[in-house]
Amino acid sequence: MSLRVDSLTVRFADALIVSGVSFDVGPHEWVSLIGPNGAGKSTVLRTVMGLHRHDGAILHAGVSVGDMSRRQLARRVAYVPQEPTRPPGVRVRDYVLLGRTPHLPPLGKESAADREIVAEVLAALDIESFARRDVSTLSGGEAQRAVIARALAQQPALLVMDEPTSALDLAAQLDVMETIDSLCRDHGVGILSTTHDLTLTARFVDVVHLIAQGRIVESGSPAEVLTADKIAAHYGAAVQVLTDPSGGLIIAPRRSPRRQP
Ligand code: ADP
Ligand code: MG
Repeated sequence: MSLRVDSLTVRFADALIVSGVSFDVGPHEWVSLIGPNGAGKSTVLRTVMGLHRHDGAILHAGVSVGDMSRRQLARRVAYVPQEPTRPPGVRVRDYVLLGRTPHLPPLGKESAADREIVAEVLAALDIESFARRDVSTLSGGEAQRAVIARALAQQPALLVMDEPTSALDLAAQLDVMETIDSLCRDHGVGILSTTHDLTLTARFVDVVHLIAQGRIVESGSPAEVLTADKIAAHYGAAVQVLTDPSGGLIIAPRRSPRRQP
């Protein structure tokens, strides 16, 4: 198992933010956490990365996150935060190369093989055209691709991504999702992501956990979880769930009747 989360509970001060959350991510498996703003999705991901005190277990390949050094964790798991920091004065190519750091010997320099991995990632995410730019000057969508590129260069066994496509245009969203999909299906990388794009999620992921107020309230395949009733109950939103000719789900918001033109 790439990741096991068991009875995870996180408190900030006295507030219970995440409560009794349990799920697994296996190799070749893509798991997505969905749920309304403030539900606790990012907190779960940050805790999986060892960034919050918690009760319950977080095991990476059987090892508790609290027993791993930052370097040990980074050799196994890559993380794309919801709001990544972008250091000024660092070119995109060097920023992506930083993903290789956990694999270099202490104080070691990158090898030709590391540079080859970076070149492949830049090509896969179509960012060669701005590889020489300063990361702090990129547009939101360009930066999001650079951050994902750095995570891919890390060649993790588990990729943890917090709303990875939120700043991307339609074509880039699909490109990034296809790239992640191929890592998962062809290379066995486990994926744990969060998203608000339910239609896109339904096309790619294996398992969806719907989180509301810090608890998992629904789990299953996209078709099992993404029903109009469940979305209404937990997001408080009226949607219509349609099926496109290829069988993909479309989650379409509905205006209330009195407001419709
Ligand atoms: P989501 O990613 O699902 O939108 P978050 O995990 O970011 O939700 O936040 C869950 C809840 O925890 C929210 O109510 C948020 O305000 C609160 N929260 C997040 N970070 C902190 C923090 N550092 N201190 C106190 N409360 C926090
Ligand atoms: Mg969040």
